[in-house]
Amino acid sequence: MSRAESLYRLQLLDLELDRARRRLHEIETLLAGNPALDHTRNEAAQADRALRLASSELKSLELESQALDEKIATEEQRLYAGQIRNPKEMLDLQQELDSLKRRRGALDDQMLALMEQVEQLRADHLRCRQALAQAERNFAEDSVHLRAECEKLQAAMEGELEQREALCRSIPAQDIALYSAIRAKKPNGVAVALIKAGACSQCGEVASSQLVQQAHTGVALAICSNCGRILYAR
Ligand SMILES: [Zn+2]
Repeated sequence: MSRAESLYRLQLLDLELDRARRRLHEIETLLAGNPALDHTRNEAAQADRALRLASSELKSLELESQALDEKIATEEQRLYAGQIRNPKEMLDLQQELDSLKRRRGALDDQMLALMEQVEQLRADHLRCRQALAQAERNFAEDSVHLRAECEKLQAAMEGELEQREALCRSIPAQDIALYSAIRAKKPNGVAVALIKAGACSQCGEVASSQLVQQAHTGVALAICSNCGRILYAR
């Protein structure tokens, strides 16, 4: 194996490891939380609150109307029991009863409207709960797949790291140092470029015949004069 070929093989492993690490990071993010699930959870909580609020409002209107009914019954009993002789007092009582009954009528309208609202909120609440249950099932299912993928990736990485270690033992330390320095400078992590049709496959720079020869035989490392990568010709 030539010096460039060893580094090329090292790079194949490193790029594979890079991909695996990126994917592992992605999986961690996906497992940590799901914005769609959070959104559905918030909606369900809001529907919950709205329903509880409207129901308790309805309950207090019902209590108020019950109290009114009792008051009306008491006053009517007084009015018709024939104990009140004073016409002024009778008129006042009659007026008060009218006012209580008007209030009772208004309460009925309010309660009817609120009942319709509660009905609607109950339907919303049910829909949100079902959506949340579905979203939670989906997330749990996805998580199982993601965890399995994670384990597979980690096992593959272990094998690749072992291969890398074995390969590195056969590469001169200064070659590894050069390779690592170039790789660190390149955003795509590619330090070794194949020569394709006489040019560097990474930047397209045409290589001199001497460089192509060097990249072939691999006695010395050939460096692309444009991008500075190590050239390798198969
Ligand atoms: Zn180049």
